[in-house]
Amino acid sequence: MIKKQSSCNDEFDPNSLSFEQALEQVKQSIKPIKGKKNVTIREAAGYILAEDVTSPLDVPPFINSAMDGYAINASDIPQTGDKKINVIGKSFAGAPFEGKLKQGEAVRIMTGAVVPEGADTVVMQEHAEVDGNHIKIGNAHKAKQNVRNPGDDFFTGDTIIKAGERLSPAKLGLLASVGVTEFKVIRKPVVAFFSTGDELKGVGQRLEPGDIYDSNRYILFGMLQKMDVECIDMGVVPDIKEEIELTLKEASNIADLVITSGGASVGEADFIKIILDEIGKVGFWKIAMKPGKPLAFGHINDTIFFGLPGNPVSAMVTFYQFVQPSLRLLEGETLSAPLKLQAKCISKLKKHPGRKDFQRGIMSSDENGQLIVDTTGVQGSHMLSSMAKANCFIVLERDSGDIEVGETVEVQPFNELI
Ligand code: AMP
Ligand code: MG
Repeated sequence: MIKKQSSCNDEFDPNSLSFEQALEQVKQSIKPIKGKKNVTIREAAGYILAEDVTSPLDVPPFINSAMDGYAINASDIPQTGDKKINVIGKSFAGAPFEGKLKQGEAVRIMTGAVVPEGADTVVMQEHAEVDGNHIKIGNAHKAKQNVRNPGDDFFTGDTIIKAGERLSPAKLGLLASVGVTEFKVIRKPVVAFFSTGDELKGVGQRLEPGDIYDSNRYILFGMLQKMDVECIDMGVVPDIKEEIELTLKEASNIADLVITSGGASVGEADFIKIILDEIGKVGFWKIAMKPGKPLAFGHINDTIFFGLPGNPVSAMVTFYQFVQPSLRLLEGETLSAPLKLQAKCISKLKKHPGRKDFQRGIMSSDENGQLIVDTTGVQGSHMLSSMAKANCFIVLERDSGDIEVGETVEVQPFNELI
């Protein structure tokens, strides 16, 4: 019997892993970085918190007004008709009223100001008729309305941010709101990357016949910058086995994660898998996905290695789907599942069963507010313009065939990386 030699162009390759199996294998093999460091709040954006932070305060810390208006005691809300109340002072944000309210008394109050002792309710200024030192209020008010109570948001001792959460501006604000300005975070991963290919020239260099510009290093640089990691650009390495091997060894000595692009396939100038076999451990190499079938994954000592395909769209898709979660896990981030939405497809999509497809789409809302998605057009993995136009992946399952206009498809909106 003749054993069929599979090629990277086959829709179905019996030697390839499913996308889900591959992703699971990557996730299982990543051990978070141990190194921690102290940072101040101004340096902390984008880091992963290494320890839970508990609040040393109740927030809000005191009862305060949610409106500009008048602080009163609820017992002064009339059962029927109106009531005249004497205004005895002011409470402004940062300048509280010092005294205590008695029955029949009110204090002019601003948003955020302390609700004075004796008061428990705020009447909006629009609902109070002012007459000299008095206000007249109606009977349609509720006791304790328009006030914010201590601990409404959280109490002293509550965990406000957990270890493994990324410090977004909102979280920095939360930390500032309780006066916490220094904390432990996980150090940033170091990522080294290089392109492989005899045909590649860096921008600014002269193109000889058969040459193209190296776009992958600029893509990777941009994506890594957005991921806020420390990156080391090691340039372009020609398709010479010894040179690639040397550069890979050097990269794995200085980085937590190494990325190459190109040479991951089965062509005569494709050395990545062979080298990884020799100097490291191959986790997997072929995945039933499109684009991105020849994706090499493994380890060189403790360093994680991804050999991305050379075609720029394939490199981006595999970075997005595999390298991004790996870097997040490496930083100890608690991962949430990627957002997947259902959209009505407004164009016909070509798809052969056999591989999970990540087509490039443009999603939007139609006039009824329904999510729709259009293709970016021809889906060649060498055509970066489709990626540049897109705002989502149209994710088509392995066994799916062509998609007709009007069918519902799964879309994965791009996050800030692309
Ligand atoms: P390879 O994976 O090395 O077989 O490359 C597949 C295709 O991607 C070829 O057409 C290469 O010229 C192209 N390619 C490889 N690396 C890059 C790169 N860094 N920038 C742009 N195109 C590339
Ligand atoms: Mg190549």
